Amino acid sequence: MSKYDVAVIGSGPGGYVAAIRCAQLGMKTAIIEKYNTLGGTCLNVGCIPSKALLDSSHHYEDAMKHFEDHGIDIPGEVKINFKKMIERKASVVEQTTKGIDFLMNKNKIDVFTGVGSFKDATHIEITGESTQTIEAANTIIATGSKPATLPFITLDKERVITSTEALSLKEIPKHMVVIGGGVIGLELGQVYKRLGAEVSVIEYMDRIIPTMDAAQSKELMKAMKKQGVKFFLSHKVSNVSREADKVRVTATDKKDKEVTFTGDYCLVSVGRRAYTDGLALQNAGVKANERGQVDVNDHLQTNISNIYAIGDVVRGAMLAHKAEEEGVMVAEILAGQKPHIDYNLIPGVVYTWPEVASVGKTEEQLKESGTPYKAGQFPMRALGRSRASGDTDGFVKILSDATTDEILGAHMVGARCADLIAEMVVAMEFRASAEDIARMSHAHPTYAEAIKEAALAATANRALHI
Ligand code: FAD
Ligand code: NAD
Repeated sequence: MSKYDVAVIGSGPGGYVAAIRCAQLGMKTAIIEKYNTLGGTCLNVGCIPSKALLDSSHHYEDAMKHFEDHGIDIPGEVKINFKKMIERKASVVEQTTKGIDFLMNKNKIDVFTGVGSFKDATHIEITGESTQTIEAANTIIATGSKPATLPFITLDKERVITSTEALSLKEIPKHMVVIGGGVIGLELGQVYKRLGAEVSVIEYMDRIIPTMDAAQSKELMKAMKKQGVKFFLSHKVSNVSREADKVRVTATDKKDKEVTFTGDYCLVSVGRRAYTDGLALQNAGVKANERGQVDVNDHLQTNISNIYAIGDVVRGAMLAHKAEEEGVMVAEILAGQKPHIDYNLIPGVVYTWPEVASVGKTEEQLKESGTPYKAGQFPMRALGRSRASGDTDGFVKILSDATTDEILGAHMVGARCADLIAEMVVAMEFRASAEDIARMSHAHPTYAEAIKEAALAATANRALHI
């Protein structure tokens, strides 16, 4: 029987990064993945394929709607080759997952293909083409998540689909009814809207992306409405039925009136659930909580001292970079180090266009906790860079402590905000004040100037260009 210092179950961004860090720190490491490709949800059916389709559909939208503004005429018709678009996405995924094979090999990590399940706290059975058992002094559970659904929905995966199917459709929907105005619904809804589908987003709450700052919800909805996406807020879905190629979604609005949506596809994007099926946690004595997440303490350790858990399968944001940080943290704990994660500084991004990005506390959270704060906001339309590119939607908002001026939160909507947010993460890690940012030179013309201007506005209400 092979013996390891560490076995990692699951090869998503949590698991494969944990394995690499364990190997770097000199531990004999195994990784177990039930699918034939490594990389988990993120690389196979999540972050990477969704961004590939967002980029492809963005190019098409530019060609159809914006080239003309830039003085570019296209003789003849611009056409979508959807099959090729999906094939390109598949090839991006393939290159990326092969990159993980390379990294496992480079770091001398043994890869096992099959379902990992606990026999006890130190033995894991792997059921793939054959069945074998390995011994591991420590185990890291990184089994991720699967799409959640509603009790009355039958996901037939043909017409009533999750993000996984939406990333590999054979045709462009005529009318996609999206249940859930969160990250997945908006990113994939925007893809299909750009490609010509009618898109209706039904959201239970009174705003989209409800966990982000309310100003971002409003700005993104405004921009997506201009693009033609229809929104139905405060609507509670009560039934989904399919007849041949049609899907009927019934919801009640806030006046309790029944509304019916008929489309050819229904994307169910109401969140994801922690995935522990097949792990046989009970054989190791590992406890899960009432939400099905593996219970962990501040050190990501389960109730069984040599078993840890990270990523989507534990509490907290379901984000690839959060899973990665946790993977590194557990590896370093196992090596005797004392790592730390500041969960307040894990940024959140929605890769629609305009992009949406956040770090730290929202204005609603500061109000709720009674924290005195100052807010500075600067619109993208006032930037020369935005006018040059034609990307004038959005703003940067910086929230700082009313007394110390320390930055407490940064929230932005606009071109390239997914990348801009890194400046605010660095600033907040170093506990910068809004004035610190306001006094730093930002290259001109860039979108980042909106950060400096918002910081000036927060410092002393003295933005320069508005
Ligand atoms: P996962 O990536 O889910 O990996 C878990 C792995 O464990 C899987 O490969 C699974 O097959 C394997 N596994 C499960 N059980 C067993 C078992 N018993 N034995 C062996 N293997 C097992 N996050 C971002 O930060 N940015 C984004 O842009 C983004 N876009 C997304 C888009 C979509 C459409 C979706 C669905 C998600 C997106 N996410 C994004 C979320 C991100 O994918 C997850 O947060 C991330 O993948 C979690 O990583 P993980 O390692 O915890 O789990
Ligand atoms: P989400 O939690 O982002 O959004 C779900 C939405 O569905 C919420 O707005 C919620 O109010 C709504 N909802 C819930 N029940 C409903 C109902 N009965 N009727 C109508 N609306 C309902 O979840 P998601 O979009 O499915 O994404 C799942 C996870 O994947 C998220 O946690 C997210 O972090 C991750 N993800 C991240 C990215 C990214 O980082 N860019 C992209 C995609 C997915």
